[in-house]
Amino acid sequence: MDIFERDAAFVAGTYGRFPVHLVRGQGEYAWDEKGKKYIDLGSGIAVNTFGYSDPVWAEAVTSQLNSLQHASNLFYTDPCSALAEMICQKTGMKRVFFGNSGAEANECAIKVARKYASDKYGCQRHNIITLKNSFHGRTIATLAATGQDVFHKNFGPFPEGFLYAEANDLESVRALMDENTAAVMVECVQGEGGVVALDKDFLTGVQALCQENDSLFMVDEVQTGNGRTGHLYSYMAYGLAPDVFTTAKGLGGGLPIGACVIGEKAQNTLGKGDHGSTFGGNPTVCAGAISIFQRLNQDLLDEVKKKSQYIFDSLTGQKGIKGVTGMGLMIGIETEKPAPEVLSSLRDMGVIALSAKTKVRLLPPLSISWDALKEAVNAIREVCAR
Ligand SMILES: *Cc1c(COP(=O)(O)O)cnc(C)c1O
Repeated sequence: MDIFERDAAFVAGTYGRFPVHLVRGQGEYAWDEKGKKYIDLGSGIAVNTFGYSDPVWAEAVTSQLNSLQHASNLFYTDPCSALAEMICQKTGMKRVFFGNSGAEANECAIKVARKYASDKYGCQRHNIITLKNSFHGRTIATLAATGQDVFHKNFGPFPEGFLYAEANDLESVRALMDENTAAVMVECVQGEGGVVALDKDFLTGVQALCQENDSLFMVDEVQTGNGRTGHLYSYMAYGLAPDVFTTAKGLGGGLPIGACVIGEKAQNTLGKGDHGSTFGGNPTVCAGAISIFQRLNQDLLDEVKKKSQYIFDSLTGQKGIKGVTGMGLMIGIETEKPAPEVLSSLRDMGVIALSAKTKVRLLPPLSISWDALKEAVNAIREVCAR
């Protein structure tokens, strides 16, 4: 059996994988088992913030691994509290709960919203408003929060209390909001929904509605966070101040982490026994995350914005390209050819890109070199123009 057959025989068939067997990576480059080299514009879905085998991250992880790999949350460990302190200092938030994925970060946010509301107003105030075309995860509760019917098929019944408003339509949020609204949760840039940056007026309006109603305003920064949009968190690009935000993917630089970051309003909502995770805040993962988070400085963010501008300028209006959307190094390209065909041609040319809905999606490492970026963008232009 080759690896494709073995995978099909033994791994649950939940993924439509690309027909590529990766064995090694360095920075923005990856190699398959035949030695073919790729420029990777996917970063393991916005995870490998500084590319493959980043030496700073690898050193942080291995040195922690060799001293204390895991302790459980029955003990204090330095990387967990140090990372939480860093995130709070950079964002003005007050408390961090660590889990292992984006879905878990959002599960925690949902629990925070429901407990905040029930402590203050009673347990009938449990509704969470999310947006159509959103994506919040694959667990049963975060699937319920995800405003896309395709993900719901076959998996009901779902927990009650999730209501879906139209994105960029403030009246639709207002119509759903009442005395039973615990929170509204949004992505500022809908990632899986096709890399759609939402309007500033809309998001500001949602935040104001939440404030008036004492419902928590929660931003899902799982994909958009940690420098991806050219801002530390995408809500900062919009001048927002969420009560809760969640993040994951790029924070760990390649190891599983999720964080639910809680502001002043709900800082004391979770108490002993209210939530937990065996691996959450694991010292090895957190040591790696610290090495990532520390480097998300203004110079890096400015560089992300420049690279983003270059991609927008080079692709907008080109032959075979209908439009370019997104923010920072989170980019959607509407192509005339079907996205899977574009991705396949790009792979032939040694470029890995992803898709989101009907679009080609780019999520390159934030540290991608200008040479590799230019080469990859030229390949995209060539493939789309064919
Ligand atoms: C990827 C993603 C999630 C889910 O994260 P997992 O780590 O796969 O659980 C949630 N929300 C958004 C916006 C995402 O992009």
